[in-house]
Amino acid sequence: MSMAKNWKDKMWIVSIVYFSLGFFNIIFAWLGMLCFIIPILMSVFGKEKNFCNGYCGRGQLFTLIGANRGISLNRELPAFLKSRWFRYGFLLFFMIMFLNMLFATWAVFAGNGSLNESVKLFWTFDLPWKWANRTGGKIPLWTVQFAYGFYSLMLTSLILGLMSMLVFRPRAWCVYCPMGTATQMICKIREGEGL
Ligand code: SF4
Repeated sequence: MSMAKNWKDKMWIVSIVYFSLGFFNIIFAWLGMLCFIIPILMSVFGKEKNFCNGYCGRGQLFTLIGANRGISLNRELPAFLKSRWFRYGFLLFFMIMFLNMLFATWAVFAGNGSLNESVKLFWTFDLPWKWANRTGGKIPLWTVQFAYGFYSLMLTSLILGLMSMLVFRPRAWCVYCPMGTATQMICKIREGEGL
């Protein structure tokens, strides 16, 4: 096995480190932007599923826990979760929630809102997360607000992925993962195929 393959197979460690860092210092949540930018760039300039097949630490983590540890019920997904309307609808929902998060960040930037030091799970439940704000007022508050909002999105999608892994198949999340749908959509548009 080549060094490159070894390195690519260990991306699940990066995922664990990323989510762990969010418990200690929320500002590290910004690193998650790489999980948005890299797949988009790879789908614009590379082949479809390049990122998903080779570099996604989250996908590897689901395989590692679900398949290798055998804790997935290994059941088929309901048809509606695989349908095009659900996958694109879920992508749209995620994008709206992302914009909503940017709006909250803008409110703090403009002085119209106060910093919310909590992680919002499933866009509903506010978990107090004050301890992870270790910036001590040294950096602009909006960057901290963005970190809380972005980590909320990342953690919510991780939990949804883990639940899908347990109830369905190890990589069930990948069927309707907004990032997977977005990169697939970009590749189809690029290659002139219909969605
Ligand atoms: S579909 Fe999503 S979670 Fe699955 S490998 Fe692709 S980016 Fe990662």
